[in-house]
Amino acid sequence: MKKIPSFQKNHDLLQPGLYVSTEANGVTTFDLRFKKPNAGDYISPKALHTIEHLLATVLRNGAAAEKIVYFGPMGCRTGFYLLTVGLTFGETLRLLKESVPVALELDEIPGNRREECGNYLEHDLADAKRELRLYLGILNAL
Ligand SMILES: [Zn+2]
Repeated sequence: MKKIPSFQKNHDLLQPGLYVSTEANGVTTFDLRFKKPNAGDYISPKALHTIEHLLATVLRNGAAAEKIVYFGPMGCRTGFYLLTVGLTFGETLRLLKESVPVALELDEIPGNRREECGNYLEHDLADAKRELRLYLGILNAL
C-alpha cells in the first residue's frame, strides 16, 4: 500500500504549532500539534475527548462555521486535525486564537450526555482546559 502523506513527514523534527498537513479536493487539513511527537508527553485520552467536544462546538458556532468540515483528535494523542474549506493559514491561526479562549470559558462539556456521545464518562474538563491554555500559548508565540 501507498504511504499516505502524513506518514511521510519526519515526526521527530515536528515541534508543537500549527501546520498545513494536506490540501486536496478543496479541503485544507490543518495539523494542530499540541505536543512534540514521541517525546513522552501526550494528551490524556479524557482531555483529548473533551477538547474534541469543546473545540468542535466552538468552531461550528463561530464566524467561520460554514468553512469547518471536521475537527477531531489524532490517534497518537499529540494533537488534532482541523479540516476546512476556504481558510488560509493566517485566517485559521486567527480563528484558533479566538476560539480557544471561548472554549476556555465553557463550564460544561457540550454533548456529554449518554445519548449524545459514544463514551460519555471519558471526559476531563479541567485537564482539557490545561492543555488548551498550553496550546494557546504556543499559538500566540507563532
Ligand atoms: Zn464524545
